Amino acid sequence: MSKIQMTTPIVEMDGDEMTRILWKMIKEELLLPYIDLKTEYYDLGLKHRDETDDQVTVDSANATLKYGVAVKCATITPNAARMEEYSLKKMYKSPNGTIRAILDGTVFRAPIIVKGIEPCVRNWEAPITLARHAYGDVYKNVEIKVPGPGKAELVYTAADGTEIRETIHEFDGPGVLQGMHNTEKSITSFAKACLKYALDTRQDVWFATKDTISKKYDHTFKEIFTKIYEEEYKEAFEKAGITYFYTLIDDAVARVMKSKGGFIWACKNYDGDVMSDMVSSAFGSLAMMTSVLVSPSGVYEYEAAHGTVQRHYYKHLKGEETSTNSVATIFAWTGALRKRGELDGNQELMHFADRLEKATLTTIEQGKMTKDLALITTLPDVTVLNSGDFIKAIKDTMDAM
Ligand code: NAP
Ligand code: MG
Repeated sequence: MSKIQMTTPIVEMDGDEMTRILWKMIKEELLLPYIDLKTEYYDLGLKHRDETDDQVTVDSANATLKYGVAVKCATITPNAARMEEYSLKKMYKSPNGTIRAILDGTVFRAPIIVKGIEPCVRNWEAPITLARHAYGDVYKNVEIKVPGPGKAELVYTAADGTEIRETIHEFDGPGVLQGMHNTEKSITSFAKACLKYALDTRQDVWFATKDTISKKYDHTFKEIFTKIYEEEYKEAFEKAGITYFYTLIDDAVARVMKSKGGFIWACKNYDGDVMSDMVSSAFGSLAMMTSVLVSPSGVYEYEAAHGTVQRHYYKHLKGEETSTNSVATIFAWTGALRKRGELDGNQELMHFADRLEKATLTTIEQGKMTKDLALITTLPDVTVLNSGDFIKAIKDTMDAM
């Protein structure tokens, strides 16, 4: 059988530890035998990031802007222990942070649904995709621990020197203070990314804030979303048969629990932080979560939601058997291949992505899975496979299909 051809390369960002091992196995077993794989390869493994003073991360993000589609392996974000372990020149920033800053994106995370791994919430039939605004609010705050009586004010000084001043509180004893901000530019690109992604995936969008209480701050988020929806997306949404729905955050939480799923839940930064952990754990496992960074200019970067699975890597280095789940990393590849196919009008590539996903899920549904899933599955007869055998089992399923 001849291999599927590609016209435009995918930006390939290799990574660290156990996920780097899985990366190689996935390419060798599941991709290279079927596709004449065209990638522009960037090694974001920590050693190479150090050798290039992290320039490779910047280069890989710029290549993503050029080609439009990237697939990324999990990478180590260095801390003090990693400085020593890898004898690093400096404590580099998180690669995801660097890439996000260059692509200006929003992160969408969705659970991978498979029979036998049931959500804790019984009425959730379809995945809930969480879209988290990744800039500002409490994550860029300024705080003061108020020592005693005094007056706290909020002051804005314009470029021409004029002031806006509001009293926050007259303290008659100790307390706490917090100042935070966001920008119209960032909120706008968040809104555009959410609405565009909804159109791409034909799902409704829910957005919620607390604008009844926060009449200027949260209200600005609501206003910007409404304006962009009305002016740029309403027509296309109506044509696609999808809706934009705004409500209060507490109402949204209640409705999510009662829903059937199958929509995008756009969340402000803090809400997204909290709710994504709730949604992902209720759906089963971090190893069954896809993650894609979408920029308002229409650039896509696919990855797994989990890290480099360090504990498993050290077992692997000691020659012990590992049972690490490669599903999220496989789906990062299929997401990128499908998007590449879509952009290039390459049907064969898109069909391959569908087939590989189906083979992955079918393998699990046949009871062949890694240990993390075996621990939570409702299927009766389960075979626990090691990291490599699970990938080989997927290949067998695909070849039989
Ligand atoms: P992690 O790699 O997500 O793993 C945490 C634990 O979750 C594992 O020890 C394992 O539990 C379980 N797990 C996660 N993924 C799994 C998989 N695919 N299959 C089976 N079990 C899985 O997080 P971490 O250990 O806290 O972080 C390790 C490194 O990853 C850090 O250096 C961090 O900087 C980096 N990181 C990178 C990204 C990214 O690139 N996007 C994201 C997060 C963290 P058991 O040990 O109980 O089996
Ligand atoms: Mg969190």
